[in-house]
Amino acid sequence: MRPSELSTLPDGVPEALEAEGIEEFYPPQTAAVEAGVADGESVVASVPTASGKTLIAELAMLSAVARGGKALYIVPLRALASEKKTEFERWEEFGVDVGVSTGNYQSDGEWLASRDVIVATSEKVDSLVRNGAPWVNDLTCVVADEVHLVDDSGRGPTLEVTLAKLRKINRDLQVVALSATVGNADQVAEWLDAALVESDWRPIELKMGVHYGNAVNFDDGSQREVPVGKGQKQTAALVADALDEEVDGQGGSSLVFVNSRRNAEGAAKRLADVTASRLDPEEQAELEGLAGDIRDVSDTDTSDDLADCVRKGAAFHHAGLAAEHRSLVEDAFRDRLVKCICATPTLAAGVNTPARRVIVRDWKRYDGEFGGMQPLDTLEVHQMMGRAGRPGLDPYGEAVLLAKDRDTMDELFERYVWAEPEDVRSKLAAEPALRTHVLATVASGFATTRDGLLEFLDRTLYASQTGDDARLAEVTDRVLEYLAANEFLEREDGTLTATGIGHTVSRLYLDPMSAAEIVDGLREGVESADADAVAAGRRSRPDGDAEVPEDAADAGFVTGNDLVAGDADGGDADDSAGDANAGEGESDEGGEGDGEEGRDDGPTITPLGLYHLVARTPDMYQLYLKSGDRETYEEQFYEREEEFLGHAPSEFEDVAFEDWLAALKTARLLEDWASELDEDTITERYGVGPGDIRGKVDTAEWLLGAAEQLANELDLDVVLDVREAKKRVEDGVREELLDLTGVRGVGRKRARRLFEAGIETRAELREADKSVVLGALRGREKTAENVLQAVGRQDPSMEGVRKDASASAAAT
Ligand code: ADP
Repeated sequence: MRPSELSTLPDGVPEALEAEGIEEFYPPQTAAVEAGVADGESVVASVPTASGKTLIAELAMLSAVARGGKALYIVPLRALASEKKTEFERWEEFGVDVGVSTGNYQSDGEWLASRDVIVATSEKVDSLVRNGAPWVNDLTCVVADEVHLVDDSGRGPTLEVTLAKLRKINRDLQVVALSATVGNADQVAEWLDAALVESDWRPIELKMGVHYGNAVNFDDGSQREVPVGKGQKQTAALVADALDEEVDGQGGSSLVFVNSRRNAEGAAKRLADVTASRLDPEEQAELEGLAGDIRDVSDTDTSDDLADCVRKGAAFHHAGLAAEHRSLVEDAFRDRLVKCICATPTLAAGVNTPARRVIVRDWKRYDGEFGGMQPLDTLEVHQMMGRAGRPGLDPYGEAVLLAKDRDTMDELFERYVWAEPEDVRSKLAAEPALRTHVLATVASGFATTRDGLLEFLDRTLYASQTGDDARLAEVTDRVLEYLAANEFLEREDGTLTATGIGHTVSRLYLDPMSAAEIVDGLREGVESADADAVAAGRRSRPDGDAEVPEDAADAGFVTGNDLVAGDADGGDADDSAGDANAGEGESDEGGEGDGEEGRDDGPTITPLGLYHLVARTPDMYQLYLKSGDRETYEEQFYEREEEFLGHAPSEFEDVAFEDWLAALKTARLLEDWASELDEDTITERYGVGPGDIRGKVDTAEWLLGAAEQLANELDLDVVLDVREAKKRVEDGVREELLDLTGVRGVGRKRARRLFEAGIETRAELREADKSVVLGALRGREKTAENVLQAVGRQDPSMEGVRKDASASAAAT
């Protein structure tokens, strides 16, 4: 079937598809069309990686839009949202507007209402539903990409419940679910009342095999000699072998999957020697240019390491990379300039980077839940293997696992080559998931009674899989109990109502357990601050939003930040404070408050305390404690004990104490960031990538924003402390720069340079000598003009202004 035979698409689209090289639909695509995917029918497509699932979704969405409807494309990862948006934007010339909803959970952007196709993660969609985004009611078509991820205990339940909600809002909603090949696609289709398109068809032949000894043994019985030299690794031999076999004058590229970021980087460095010796001068020159582009993205070790590999024709790829790094690497790989990518499996499914040869080097991975190294699922390995073979370029794709001995080879054949993929199983009945979704379901009015709730949950995959209503009712009751005990819900005569705070928690998209932790911590902080204030004969500020008393600074009280910056050595507890130690640490050394804009009565509440509080909620992925970390953070634990909000576990509560230290490590990263430590030092100190810093900062920002709202609502006297801690982590600066970083175009580095040139506030910037501003901004005239304009300067022009050398000297 050809695109032009489809009459449902917007005008011009079939021709455009054919111009892209899609002359005939692939068989699964034809099957989906026959099942009505272009006519508004729900379809589950369970087909192998790289066999054209995206086009099935596009046919559904574009046809829906042509009928006057609106479509939503749900992606599993944020990193994929903008990629998909870019992909769909090619339809804008045919009148299809595309939008992406990323960013903060709350910034939903009303303009999405005007888009025809919206791309978002399931978390984002769930959040939009909870916040009542009106356009959700207009949706006529929803696509769930990688629907087999309902099996993922982290993200699966959200996808499941979100689909159930969307289908409740619009009972005629077309649902198109795209799935890798799984064992029980029929169950998924039944759950979604959808037609099933199931196929093993692939656009290019895939040979799967295991390398053992001096050869790859393929599933079709064939063998390929790949001898491993003395001191050589199997992976290196396989990468070299693929490159040396030329097809149409081109060697084959390889994609190597490993189990951790560090391994990805290590393997890329080693394999770069293999690729480097096989580059021609032209490629070398192009790769030098690319390495420069990579260094320009950011000034970090990761950036340097990546550039060093890329110069030699290899690269690593993992979720710790900046998005720009990732796309530079992917494009260069598709252009056959980069010959080998070593990747973690995170993006294996979503990113379209086919290679002639896929090498699955690691088939085990550390598993926090079960402990130790556990084998990967067949499904996951099949998805990696499916990336092998570039249609039209390679004769066939080869996917290779590695074995050191015969037994392992046999095991790998059993487990991955011959095996069928697993079934997907709902993870909704896990309590954290249910806790969150039950509250949201009640708060956003999808259910108002216990029975109504159970009926709603009956639309989930969980219900359709277990058929055990009693079990679902039992966990649901336990969850209702928890939510009521924490005052998020009220239960009266079988009616369920969310409390004010319950509504807030749901809208803020918090796990109720995070909210409970935050509320307890803040309450405790306020109490001990009050106890201190009483002990020190101070009055307590009457309410969170009240003005800071004018005389606070003069009175010599120490602000929270002084504690962070300097001494937090508690020690001599003031007995008159009665209750314990959470508060005595702060110095009360009068005059040392040095006239900063001090605020008085929250001396025990420091940014570190707040960062730690949010870092220990289940909504923050904490940093792991590596070997040696335990001593480091245990020491810091005692040094800074008085800053923690809430009750610290004792050392004898092993697991809880360890968690507390991991949260401390995470909080220290945030504190370093908010103290202007440079990115490189942070990545080194905590063993993370620059992308991770961003991730932690974003999560902290969101959770502190939530904490601020909760404090406000509960009238807790910590709102200002929370706001400041949030601002500091958001901008990555010390307190004194917060005014300057409020100016558009002024980030942490520029603000620091302006400050050092003597320009300390926005008001001063507005009046400042242009040559000083220019000097502080390293002579960049356009930047200086933009900054002055943003701060409201009448005449921002830099024409004829010479930069003040002393300012730039001061700044360096
Ligand atoms: P999946 O989502 O199943 O992993 P993709 O949708 O990414 O696979 O498709 C893989 C590649 O195949 C894409 O580059 C796409 O443009 C191409 N493709 C899809 N359908 C066709 C077709 N009918 N004819 C030619 N190429 C196609």
